[in-house]
Amino acid sequence: DSFEEFDLSEETLEGLRDCAIYKVPSPIQTKAIPAAIEGRDVLAAARTGSGKTLAFVIPILELLHREKWSDTFGLGALVITPTRELALQIAKVFHEVGRRHKLSVGLVVGGHGGRDLAHERKIMEKYSIVICTPGRILDHMDKSHRFDVSSLKIVVIDEADRILDMSFARDMASIVEHLPTPRQTLLFSATQTRSVKDLSRLSLDRPVVVSV
Ligand code: AMP
Repeated sequence: DSFEEFDLSEETLEGLRDCAIYKVPSPIQTKAIPAAIEGRDVLAAARTGSGKTLAFVIPILELLHREKWSDTFGLGALVITPTRELALQIAKVFHEVGRRHKLSVGLVVGGHGGRDLAHERKIMEKYSIVICTPGRILDHMDKSHRFDVSSLKIVVIDEADRILDMSFARDMASIVEHLPTPRQTLLFSATQTRSVKDLSRLSLDRPVVVSV
């Protein structure tokens, strides 16, 4: 097995080679990446440590690369993750593996004191890929009504079970309501609880189900 089997752009393959640690795809990557690159929605049962981050970072990079995405197109991909720490880790993977792509990555996360809505809105207008936590992004969707998500092509819900455990269930339902259709959605969760199943039904369209 190698990443070359996935029909990836030279930019992504070089980014992976630069990182050195990514020699062969992990099982979740082998299962999720081809389905996601084909444009399918994916429901993935995978825990932290399985390599799930790369399983959604690669499809996002490939999709936007194929669309010849640039920042002037607006927001192309949104990753929703439970915590600021996870958001920072995900950003790091985008920066490492995606460094040969001309795609910008912004963060909209809580935990840094004051809420500067104007600044965050600028981030969302400026970047092709945004990584966010649910409460922060909903502030923009709900209150300002100025957060333009109409250009969005792909959405990732990362660690869905943890998001729902943190009682963001209603926030997630509101966020999904604000998202444009058609779009592609990838949902990752370590456990398949009742509330994860509800969110999957709400957010996914005929998903490919993968588990490791
Ligand atoms: P994650 O499940 O995304 O949090 O990844 C867990 C750890 O596995 C991270 O430290 C990654 O750098 C590492 N990792 C992810 N994919 C691979 C891979 N294909 N080969 C080696 N290490 C990997």
